[in-house]
Amino acid sequence: MKKTNKLLHFYHSLSILKKFLFAPTIGLVLVLPFYIFAFFSMQDIKNSVQEFNSKLNPLQETAYNNILLLEKIANDINSAVTAKEAEWIETTEIHAQKMRKNLHTFFKSTYKKDAEDALVAFDVYYEKVKNISQKIIENENCYTSIEDDTKKIIADYDALYASLNNLKLKIKQEIAIRGNSLYEDTNFLLLNGNFIFIAWLILSVLIVFVVYRDIRYKINTIVEDSREIARGDVDFEKRLCIVSYDELGQIIRSINIFINKLHKSHQELSVAKKELEGLYVTDRLTNVYNRVKIDEIIEIELKKKKRYDHTFSAILIDVDYFKLVNDTYGHLIGDAILKEFAAILKENVRNTDYVGRWGGEEFIIICPQTNHNGALSLAEHLRSKIEESNFTTVGKKTASFGVAECGEKDDITSLIDNADKALYRAKKGGRNQVVCCNQL
Ligand code: GH3
Ligand code: MG
Ligand code: MG
Repeated sequence: MKKTNKLLHFYHSLSILKKFLFAPTIGLVLVLPFYIFAFFSMQDIKNSVQEFNSKLNPLQETAYNNILLLEKIANDINSAVTAKEAEWIETTEIHAQKMRKNLHTFFKSTYKKDAEDALVAFDVYYEKVKNISQKIIENENCYTSIEDDTKKIIADYDALYASLNNLKLKIKQEIAIRGNSLYEDTNFLLLNGNFIFIAWLILSVLIVFVVYRDIRYKINTIVEDSREIARGDVDFEKRLCIVSYDELGQIIRSINIFINKLHKSHQELSVAKKELEGLYVTDRLTNVYNRVKIDEIIEIELKKKKRYDHTFSAILIDVDYFKLVNDTYGHLIGDAILKEFAAILKENVRNTDYVGRWGGEEFIIICPQTNHNGALSLAEHLRSKIEESNFTTVGKKTASFGVAECGEKDDITSLIDNADKALYRAKKGGRNQVVCCNQL
């Protein structure tokens, strides 16, 4: 397992070019030692063949010749005896010399001992056969007296013939053994050479195929992701995770760094956008929605009413005698009271209601899916909360409420107008009270 990891790590650390060179290099590492071995083995085989040609084959030929020479000498002497020509015996000396010379050539080989024995045996036999033959030619009637010697000579001849034949067979056998071994060595080299070459070829093809697939996968991933980036569909949660230190790995790392930076700027932009949106729709003094946003909300609610017949209500709130606060305590205290006022409103509505500043010391609440009864009870609840509250510096303050439910034909102007009329009536009625437009 560890070895596989190491191998993988090594593979990933290579550049693309080196990855492709990986296969032939492995091949070289595997094949080269064998081919060096094969080269030296071929040298040995060449030497053996040379030895065959220069030594063993001539020796074998000489061994054959020796047998022929022996037969020739025996035949010639026999002819001399038959023809009673003593001079003819002398002519065999040429063959005898040849035989001796031949046997001497074996002295430098491993057959020295056999050749020496054969030479001694030949000389003895040759001398004896010459003497006996001479005697027979000179005196025909001596056959009976030399009968034993003749028998002995025949036995010597047979022994000599056998030893020369044996020498010939030994060489023949050596040639066969060494020939066989040469054949096996050559076969071994050829078979294993082919096997190693095919194994290298298969391994190379496999490695090249694996490298090709790996690189194709990385390129495809890079292409896909760069297309996504070009389209603007960047998945910021996703990072290309390819463990590689080659050129493609570098590109992938750069893309990841780019996505990181893009992600960071995107986050910063989102935050800035939210802040800007907040500023755009929020009243800076009271931190409730401003009129722009409230207008937008009313438009949306009007659309919902048209589409789904979902009703909604508006509550207009005006602080009672607020001018007095400014006049008595100054504008800064007036501002602080407005903030506290807005906070009380926000704290006491449902989170589906929208609280906004309509202008000056007037506030508005939009209550989705709420009819005038619901809005009336909310307004009453808020009125009493304000009445109960103790405002900083000024102590008790009250507010008047005008409620209007959006009717069938209402638009933004008529709705606000209705709520305003109700508010006016609340003021007229003595303030610190809630009036609904349908009570007018
Ligand atoms: P009432 O509504 O009960 O009839 O009496 P009022 O004193 O509240 O009358 P009016 O609505 O006419 O006065 C509103 C005053 O609110 C006038 C203005 O000075 C003050 N005002 C409006 N906007 C602000 C503001 O942002 N800060 C402060 N401190 N005062 C404001
Ligand atoms: Mg007012
Ligand atoms: Mg007022």
